[in-house]
Amino acid sequence: MDTLVLASWPARLKGNDARQSRAAAARIASSEIEATINNKLGLVENLAEAVNQLYSGATVTDPGVYVELLKWSGRERNLDEGKRVHSHIMQTGYEGDRMVMNLVVEMYGKCGDVEQAGNVFDSIQDPNVFSWTIIIAAYAQNGHCMESLRLLSRMNQAGVKPDGYTFTTVLGACTAVGALEEAKILHAATISSTGLDRDAAVGTALINLYGKCGALEEAFGVFVQIDNKDIVSWSSMIAAFAQSGQAKSAIQLLMLMDLEGVRPNNVTFVNVLEAVTSLKAFQYGKEIHARIVQAGYSDDVCLTSALVKMYCNWGWVETARSIFENSRERDVVSWSSMIAGYSQNESPARALSLFREMEVDGVQPNSVTFVSAIDACAGVGALRRGTQLHERVRCLGLDKDVPVATALVNLYGKCGRLEEAEAVFLGMKKKNLLTWTSIAMAYAQNGHGSRSLKLLHGMELQGMKPDGIVFVAILVSCNYAGQMSKGLYYYKLMTQDFGIAPAVEHCGCMVDILGRAGKLEAAEQLINTMKFESSLAWMMLLTACKAHNDTARAARAAEKIFQLEPKNATPYVLLSSVFCAAGSWEAAEETRRRMDGRGVQRLLGRSSIEIGDRVHEFVAASDVLPHHLVGEIFAALEKLGREMQGAGYVPDATAVRLRDVEEGGKENAVPYHSEMLALGLGIVSTPAGTPLRITKNLRMCSDCHIATKFVSKLVHRRISVRDGRRHHHFENGVCSCGDYW
Ligand code: ZN
Ligand code: ZN
Repeated sequence: MDTLVLASWPARLKGNDARQSRAAAARIASSEIEATINNKLGLVENLAEAVNQLYSGATVTDPGVYVELLKWSGRERNLDEGKRVHSHIMQTGYEGDRMVMNLVVEMYGKCGDVEQAGNVFDSIQDPNVFSWTIIIAAYAQNGHCMESLRLLSRMNQAGVKPDGYTFTTVLGACTAVGALEEAKILHAATISSTGLDRDAAVGTALINLYGKCGALEEAFGVFVQIDNKDIVSWSSMIAAFAQSGQAKSAIQLLMLMDLEGVRPNNVTFVNVLEAVTSLKAFQYGKEIHARIVQAGYSDDVCLTSALVKMYCNWGWVETARSIFENSRERDVVSWSSMIAGYSQNESPARALSLFREMEVDGVQPNSVTFVSAIDACAGVGALRRGTQLHERVRCLGLDKDVPVATALVNLYGKCGRLEEAEAVFLGMKKKNLLTWTSIAMAYAQNGHGSRSLKLLHGMELQGMKPDGIVFVAILVSCNYAGQMSKGLYYYKLMTQDFGIAPAVEHCGCMVDILGRAGKLEAAEQLINTMKFESSLAWMMLLTACKAHNDTARAARAAEKIFQLEPKNATPYVLLSSVFCAAGSWEAAEETRRRMDGRGVQRLLGRSSIEIGDRVHEFVAASDVLPHHLVGEIFAALEKLGREMQGAGYVPDATAVRLRDVEEGGKENAVPYHSEMLALGLGIVSTPAGTPLRITKNLRMCSDCHIATKFVSKLVHRRISVRDGRRHHHFENGVCSCGDYW
């Protein structure tokens, strides 16, 4: 026999899971090798020896050796080794052993070679219910659901009756593929098969499959029919509701379950938390949290992740952090949830530092973690860190993962690196809608709207029908380029030629386009003709009213947003600045009081700048600036201020009064907005002439905008600022946005 390849067995076993291989070794109790197994050497080495003996021509009297080796090959999807075991079997005369041959079929199925699985199955004489189940599963697991259904009827014709295990196996395989038609055929087959649909295991498998396909009515129909619903059936039905966005039904089912006296387990709680999270059902969420603690599941790592996710989704990041800190066990999922939580809650710098902590802790990030970390880099404009992460995902082979690659396109777009964004985009074999949006947004935000339009034609050439999302990007391009007539043209093209109904984003974009051109009346009319209420569109109108000093319309727009989004601070801030600009200090003050009276929290202004390997973040309204260079920064900014005034800069009184309103926090805590502090740090800590790149979460105020234009000229540097709205490229006293943003 070929002994050369055998040397590779033990190393691979060692590399994978020592515990698993030890168990495997323990069960290879073929009499020839039992003696070796029993001696006191390490078990993994013994397995190696066992395998060596097996292949060096020893006779096999116990098929257990084959069982373990076939299972191992299937689990590891190692077709080469599996084939070798198969050929050994053929030579030692075990090909007549049905149990061994069943496992050969299973091994080929797991390794993805369905054809070979089929051939071996056909060679089995008198296949039993297991043989049939295994071959049916092999086809189903490899995406040949229809073929597996044909086999099911062949099985019936052959007079072998499928049992519950056959159905759960096939249903499980179909669930992985999410095949609804097959689900219905299988459902009918289970009913004709002596009411197996009422069996808890089969019924639950059906619920899972229907749930995956979003066929909730069918799933619930099956659930009701099940005779002895166990905890798994309940949990599966709750999961089906939660994952299909029917959060209320999921929660109601838990209440029903309580009434029936069935005690929820950790899986049930995970599913309910998913529902509670999306509903933002705060009170109920806290109750569930308390029940989890009561039931003694505080240390369950899945539940920790779900709780962290829930609180982060609600914006309660500190609560999430304390749960995370107090959890005894942490895995890549709980770390990822916490990192994603920071990334999504305006704390990208904390997301990145937690990412570093996780690695120090020895936990390997997965693609989900990388997406959050890359998003965080995009959030703070940490191009260097982001590029390092790109390199790492490339090494791990994760750069072809659609969400990861999409995050990279977004990162490069947000950092103003169009070439890199485009390279990642073009290198992707599969793309989703988010990918298309990210690249189109990258073009649009960086002022290359025409490339966005080319994208539309490119898609058409590829035979892809542009959808609403692509038109969002196109309209954004027209908007940033200030091309009203082009915007109107594409809006008409979309709604009339392509028959796409305008969504919130299109409406918001068109309002912005019209508003920028001063067509406030038309913009307001457009919003009023929409079939939906959109706070985004009203926000765009409010912004336009600010630019064109239309106080009456601004007040109307703001009232709409107050109703639609009572907790959003932005409309209050915008409205009070409209009043300020019109000199109505009284009305501005009144707006502020209303905001505080309703308990609306202002968003804090945050700016960051990457210098070398470090990201420095400045937050508005902190009494003490977290920076050792603070003296130097202030000195530099004061000196620049004097030079600016010499060059003709006049501080805008309105802007000064607005400073506190716009960025929240204590009055006069720090006399500069956060982006100016970041700019100051950049100037004092990099060599003259180095371009500076700053990222800010909120829209830049007009005073900082004017000041930055002056600074770019005085210090002879290119300064780019990405604010909450767009990119500004300042050079020699001019900004690329043309002073409209
Ligand atoms: Zn400012
Ligand atoms: Zn600008």
